[in-house]
Amino acid sequence: MPTSPSTDNASLHSPLVVNATPTHGEMIVKLFQQSLLDNLDDGVIFVNNRLNIISWNKKLESMTGISWGKVEGLKMTPQLVGFSASDGTTILDSNNPLLNALKTGSSIQGEYRLVGRSGRQHKVEMSFNPVIDARGQTHGGVVLIHDASIQLDLQRQLKDLYRFSMLDPLTQVSNRLEFEKAMEEFVRSRHASGLKCSLIVTDIDFFKKINDNFNHHIGDLALVAFADLLRKFVRTEDVVARYGGEEFVIICADCDLEAASQRAEEIRVELTESPQPMLGGQCITASFGVAEVEDNDTATDLFVRADCALLEAKELGRNRVVAAQASIIPGRPDMKKVDGATLGMSWRNIANGTLICEEYTTSTPLSIIIEKLRGYIIETEAEIRSVESDFASLNIERFDPQKRGRKGRFILEIEFNEKLIHLDKETKRRETQTVIRLNIREQKKGWFSANANELAPDVIAELRRHLMITEVDLKLRPKPISSAAKER
Ligand code: GH3
Ligand code: MG
Ligand code: MG
Repeated sequence: MPTSPSTDNASLHSPLVVNATPTHGEMIVKLFQQSLLDNLDDGVIFVNNRLNIISWNKKLESMTGISWGKVEGLKMTPQLVGFSASDGTTILDSNNPLLNALKTGSSIQGEYRLVGRSGRQHKVEMSFNPVIDARGQTHGGVVLIHDASIQLDLQRQLKDLYRFSMLDPLTQVSNRLEFEKAMEEFVRSRHASGLKCSLIVTDIDFFKKINDNFNHHIGDLALVAFADLLRKFVRTEDVVARYGGEEFVIICADCDLEAASQRAEEIRVELTESPQPMLGGQCITASFGVAEVEDNDTATDLFVRADCALLEAKELGRNRVVAAQASIIPGRPDMKKVDGATLGMSWRNIANGTLICEEYTTSTPLSIIIEKLRGYIIETEAEIRSVESDFASLNIERFDPQKRGRKGRFILEIEFNEKLIHLDKETKRRETQTVIRLNIREQKKGWFSANANELAPDVIAELRRHLMITEVDLKLRPKPISSAAKER
């Protein structure tokens, strides 16, 4: 605690305690200090121990509208300065924070409201600081007043800007930009944490007719009503967004395909049972496509699958929900999915004893790849074990370099899938990539095993050359997917 305040009444408008005629040097320092005070962005008041104002800087003059000449020597009270509690409640003189700071010897800080003589209100942060010398004697206090209004205005403007950039102005759900950002995030977290996530894409049926039969403004109101209904069905962790026109999307966090499809169905039913006042009590319907994030999916893969399902729902007659199959190539119910390497499509199980299993993606059409495979079989005199439209199993013989004259046999399997990467809704043109999986194993374990590991990469490399899979081609992404391949 400080000792009792000294009664010394310092010279007015000066931060310095002056007991005698100042020297030239002291006057120069005083000049610098006054210049500093007047150029501050914060209001500053100096008071003596009796709370008489001894300095009042220029910033304070502009905030309060009171000039130094009008307050010089007056008692610093909340009423004089014009500040009240942050909610506008009057602060009594007996509660003057500066008085409390001087009594306790500790600084007091807080948010207050300051009303200037012109009536302009400022949100201010004020601090009341006792001035105590080295012997613990209090000489008065300093009040600092920081105008937080500008900062708050900026924060408010930034918030508005953020809302504006992320929300669809008509329906007040997220806009496409926000949706795309959220999708990337959801897909990333699905791969990192394994938490399921699905996407619903929905489009109002025959919306053009609403515009034609009523008018564009009524059409807008119908869009708002549809968005409101979608919002009713989402939880805080989900995202509902307007993708464009009368197409909306919902990212369903922690939802598998079945749960998301169920949700889409509930929305669909509720919509068909909701008479729209702006349409004279008529109901609207919508179609829905649903897809779940699969291993290796990108956000685009997921969207394309859900969008294709929506297109199918439209083609099947509208007002329905279609769930996208994990594989975009239909009709492969016999194939089992292999975890961790599916690219959203079906693959056969990898056989035990596989030495190498690699997956490649190329823009070369499947028909050309198959033509090249035929050339490989003829040239290498490979023996065909079995062939299907998207699968070939071959026997390949290789001389064992260490056992001259003796041959070992590999089983080489080549499997193909087509991956839809773009679908033009207008022309229905599909852009695809071919995904090829190669795997190799020994036909029989035995004397050959010791060298099979070393020979297998050559066999795979030869096949890759024939199929025009080169690692320098940027479109190709070699991807080892079996532990056997990693162990090599
Ligand atoms: P479908 O069942 O195949 O989806 O038919 P549709 O009529 O709903 O689809 P189409 O793509 O033919 O028409 C969509 C219409 O939506 C055309 C466009 O003028 C209208 N539209 C797009 N954005 C807005 C908007 O913000 N407000 C209004 N009122 N109409 C819009
Ligand atoms: Mg539509
Ligand atoms: Mg549409």
